[in-house]
Amino acid sequence: KSKATMFDANRMKVTFKDVAGLDEAKEEVEEVVDFLKKPSKYTDLGGKIPKGVLLVGPPGTGKTLLAKAVAGEAGVPFFSLSGSDFVEMFVGVGAARVRDLFKQAKEKAPCIIFIDEIDAIGRSRGKGAMPGSNDERENTLNSLLVEMDGFGTDSGVILLAATNRPDILDNALMRPGRFDRQISVDKPDIVGREQIFKVHLQPIKLADGVKPKELAAQTPGFAGAEIANVCNEAALIAARNGKEKVDMDDFQAAVDRVIGGLEKKNKIISPDE
Ligand code: ATP
Repeated sequence: KSKATMFDANRMKVTFKDVAGLDEAKEEVEEVVDFLKKPSKYTDLGGKIPKGVLLVGPPGTGKTLLAKAVAGEAGVPFFSLSGSDFVEMFVGVGAARVRDLFKQAKEKAPCIIFIDEIDAIGRSRGKGAMPGSNDERENTLNSLLVEMDGFGTDSGVILLAATNRPDILDNALMRPGRFDRQISVDKPDIVGREQIFKVHLQPIKLADGVKPKELAAQTPGFAGAEIANVCNEAALIAARNGKEKVDMDDFQAAVDRVIGGLEKKNKIISPDE
């Protein structure tokens, strides 16, 4: 059985309103929404609807959120799984999961399949880092390619995949008829951060003087996920201190805490620094 989590069309409440900033990326995926909603508009003129779109960008920038929003806007089911879900010790399991996933998706079409961390299966063949598990991963990748070639562009299934390592992906994945479109989902600039703060400040009881613009200025280099984290931490800190509203001091403490967490994470990734 595939490990995909399926979100029903009427359970998927994420829309473009929830995705702050990322104007260019949103504009590009809007086309995908239209493909899903009105495929005949394109196929009647002889156009081939793209099967796969690759979302490229650093962790936490909203790739998953954007993919969900495409499903939400189009009102179609959303199958979500991570590339690492396919990677198994047992021969043939990954390939069987891929086949099963496509079978399920075709039954629910029009729909979206979202594969996060596609690099876990899509790494260039013959360049794997883990000897032994390679053949199995290649089998899985091959079955993904076979499945992608096997369905028509009019099947109503569109694949979205996310990666922060497009450079290590197998070229075969990017051939025409596969993931032949790339959309970059970058870290927000100061204006983007302000917009993301506005989204995530919405549910929070704010004291006077909390300014999204100021928070954006204090968080250079933060991705959306970290901004969401700051807002939540600030609320928790204020609550712990028995406050009734979340003030700028709480946000300051939350920013420090999130920066601390990031520094720790970076140390683990690059121990030689
Ligand atoms: P990863 O590559 O680590 O899977 P990702 O790019 O898929 O990360 P998401 O999982 O979409 O990132 O983002 C995590 C959370 O961060 C979202 O659920 C949302 O709360 C917040 N977030 C990220 N980017 C944005 C954004 N542009 N607007 C609003 N919220 C955002």
